[in-house]
Amino acid sequence: MDTLSASRPIDDGRDHGAHYLAGDCAGQNFYAIDRGLRDLLPLYLSPDDFRRLEPHFDRLGVLAGSRLDELARTADRHPPVVNPRDRFGRDEDFICYHGSYREMEQIAFGDFQFHAMSHRGGCLGMDRPLPAVAKYALQYLFVQAEFGLMCPISVTDTSIHLIRKFASAELKDYLLPRMLSADPAIQWKGTQFMTERAGGSDVGAIETVARLADGEWRLYGDKWFCSHADADVALLLARPEGAEAGTRGLALFALPRRLKDGRRNSYRIVRLKDKLGTRSMASGEIRLEGAVAYLVGDIEAGLKQMMEQVNLSRLSHGVRASAMMRRCLNEAMVCAKSRVAFGRTIIDYPLLRRQLLKIAVAVEQSVSMFLFAAGAMDRANAGGKDAEALLRILTPLLKFRACRDNIPVATGAMEVRGGNGYIEEWVNARLIRDAHIGVLWEGTSNINALDIITRAVAKSRAHEALGTALGTLLNETATLPAGFHQRLGTTLNRALSFAERVAGDRALEANARAAASGLYHATSAVLMAWEATRPGVDARRALVARLVLDFRLSAPDPLEPASFDWEGEAAELIFSDRQVSLDEVVPWLA
Ligand SMILES: Cc1cc2nc3c(=O)[nH]c(=O)nc-3n(C[C@H](O)[C@H](O)[C@H](O)COP(=O)(O)OP(=O)(O)OC[C@H]3O[C@@H](n4cnc5c(N)ncnc54)[C@H](O)[C@@H]3O)c2cc1C
Repeated sequence: MDTLSASRPIDDGRDHGAHYLAGDCAGQNFYAIDRGLRDLLPLYLSPDDFRRLEPHFDRLGVLAGSRLDELARTADRHPPVVNPRDRFGRDEDFICYHGSYREMEQIAFGDFQFHAMSHRGGCLGMDRPLPAVAKYALQYLFVQAEFGLMCPISVTDTSIHLIRKFASAELKDYLLPRMLSADPAIQWKGTQFMTERAGGSDVGAIETVARLADGEWRLYGDKWFCSHADADVALLLARPEGAEAGTRGLALFALPRRLKDGRRNSYRIVRLKDKLGTRSMASGEIRLEGAVAYLVGDIEAGLKQMMEQVNLSRLSHGVRASAMMRRCLNEAMVCAKSRVAFGRTIIDYPLLRRQLLKIAVAVEQSVSMFLFAAGAMDRANAGGKDAEALLRILTPLLKFRACRDNIPVATGAMEVRGGNGYIEEWVNARLIRDAHIGVLWEGTSNINALDIITRAVAKSRAHEALGTALGTLLNETATLPAGFHQRLGTTLNRALSFAERVAGDRALEANARAAASGLYHATSAVLMAWEATRPGVDARRALVARLVLDFRLSAPDPLEPASFDWEGEAAELIFSDRQVSLDEVVPWLA
């Protein structure tokens, strides 16, 4: 559903056959070509915020398709390197980054100020913090070019959140002026170190110890996965000596890289990980050797407090997956519309169309889901209790399903490009490598699915808020054909009951992922159907909603042709370059 014109060599007789190859999205404005996002932002943002921020979406869209994309490609090829000592032989480790990474940091932390935009005015000309919808839309545009750096950006943002919410006034005074700054000379960036060899999913197994001596906390232990390893302030979990075992004995600490007198704190980056993806960004192992740290908030509520950071990161991970999927779709569409095989442009082949449809469905679902979740966050921040419950369940739903979808989408987009998709000069190979981390960090798929079913549904009953919110939206979609409207309602109710059944019976735990997927798909179908009925929104979102019902919420018979009589026409409409009205799609919604 995008208007794309490929960057591609012209056959001028001197290109040595280059024009045979499909082009790519280089040079495009990633905001301008994203009809889904452009249609939906005015729905999820206030008119005033949209008017003030749209020039920045557009500016970032241009950057993401040009300079940022070039920098990301270079940074991926020149990963960071850790040096254990400085040139005088002092044990002061430091990480060397390529200039391309530093320039991306300047765009992110200096120009757009992603890290601070939720916490203070003064970012992008706003006199107050940006709404969550705008922040995540900007993350989505940025990540279409660069994924690795979004980890340090997001984790600085979420560290600031935790410090603002839980730290003592003294600790806030010490950390926040630097962390909120956009001046690289004084700015401190944040990160989060939780995982140890003994425990990633099983956080309660953490072995790092916190010792209180002369009024000062000192940390001893080993952190096994530390992204943004050289951050200026790390939030981490450790067990105060004598505290009980398990998650209840964990406290939250802020660990500065440098002490107040300027000396390095007592911890070392032992080595950096040689990673499949996110190669521009440094993930390492950290040994804590009596490092000075500051207790954050309630000593007995460490994990509970840190879960706020985890949940914010999970939402951002869903947005990042959505962004990478959009890039995959855009790249795939450019290929499909320009590559010729057997005398026809490949988009004309039914098998390829189905591949593209499947990619497009996953992309549009994720965009609706992240905007809906971000909208709930804005209402929750304004005190809405129902919105808080909604956000509680939407966050892991988005993280779980969008990150999983990102993997087949990235592979599918590579396949559409053919052999070139496997070659590192094209963006597809990096998109595949980067896609896989989404199902690992901030909890694997199982851990997120269990969070949805055993906590958000069973304990918090957050699915009830979801059902109510979606019921309200369904009531606003009377312009949809009655049969389709009813199908949406029935599917939603079945998804909610399935989740509730699994949540209520430990013997059904192995169904947690299926139940979580059902909730995600049903929610996204209702959202897209509702969005399609709003003025100014391309009505093809309703077609995509039907595809969700047909592709993702119906079990095909593997021994029967899975062809829909309307698939050809639907693909025709979905892949056309024009805006489509509700009247035009109604025949396909019966
Ligand atoms: C590149 C990279 C960067 C990272 N950066 C950071 C970072 O900055 N900070 C940080 O704290 N962590 C970081 N992590 C760690 C990441 O969050 C963990 O790897 C992840 O949480 C999984 O933990 P684990 O590796 O110990 O796997 P395990 O917990 O050992 O899981 C192994 C398998 O067991 C499954 N499993 C576990 N429990 C259950 C259960 N109850 N039911 C069903 N299945 C279960 C999991 O789903 C998984 O498939 C990073 C990881 C990577 C790869």
